[in-house]
Amino acid sequence: MCRHLGYLGPRASVGGVLTGGEHSLRVQSYAPNDMRGGGTVNADGFGVAWWQDGSVRSYRNPMPIWTDPAVDDVLPQLDSTSVIAAVRSATVGMPVERSACAPFTDGRWAFSHNGVVRGWPHSLTDLWSEVPPVDALTLPAPTDAAAIWIMLRQLLATLDPPVALATLVRRIEARAPGSRLNFLLGDGENMYATAVHHALSVRRSEDAVTIASEPTDEASDWTHIDDRSLVVATASEFTVSRLDEEEHK
Ligand code: GLN
Repeated sequence: MCRHLGYLGPRASVGGVLTGGEHSLRVQSYAPNDMRGGGTVNADGFGVAWWQDGSVRSYRNPMPIWTDPAVDDVLPQLDSTSVIAAVRSATVGMPVERSACAPFTDGRWAFSHNGVVRGWPHSLTDLWSEVPPVDALTLPAPTDAAAIWIMLRQLLATLDPPVALATLVRRIEARAPGSRLNFLLGDGENMYATAVHHALSVRRSEDAVTIASEPTDEASDWTHIDDRSLVVATASEFTVSRLDEEEHK
């Protein structure tokens, strides 16, 4: 299962967000602590999104993150007040290609899915048939994560992010029980994350919030997030609520 990480705070090096901490996202790519569902390493590429002048930029590579010299040579030269990054372990049967690497981006949004949809794609046939054909044509890759992104983008057009995420989790679970649905969504100023059958931790320091599949170091200021929770974060605070209550607020 992939690992992802989101940062909101003072301007920070984009490369540094990938490599910071003794258990950085890059270390988690070859030595993760908490893999669930069969994978052992996250070697099927990586991606990172950051915000510049209000719009989201990204860099993705289908090779293992530890083989890419840009992580040490180029990405540290960029900085941003928000970064969303992911290392990928492709689900069996799904392609290993750049377009399948999270984060997926559009407009101000960046999105990552850590997990798997059970019975994909057949389990989601009726949900997917609600996506307008022209939007279906923008599916970045034939993977569960990419399809989730297109459906989420649809919901974000009319719903607040917490409601959109909770609605999508409920709809997917109704059709594909047992799915692992850890989502991470950001717009450069806010981050939203779900924990559904997968690990998630959050750290708040004086002026920054980090959300990560696994803590990036052994410091004691990480909060472990309970299963079936939704995290909403700004640079200065985060709240945790029950995912199942989110739609009814
Ligand atoms: N199922 C997704 C993919 O293959 C996410 C992978 C993961 O979390 N391991 O892209």
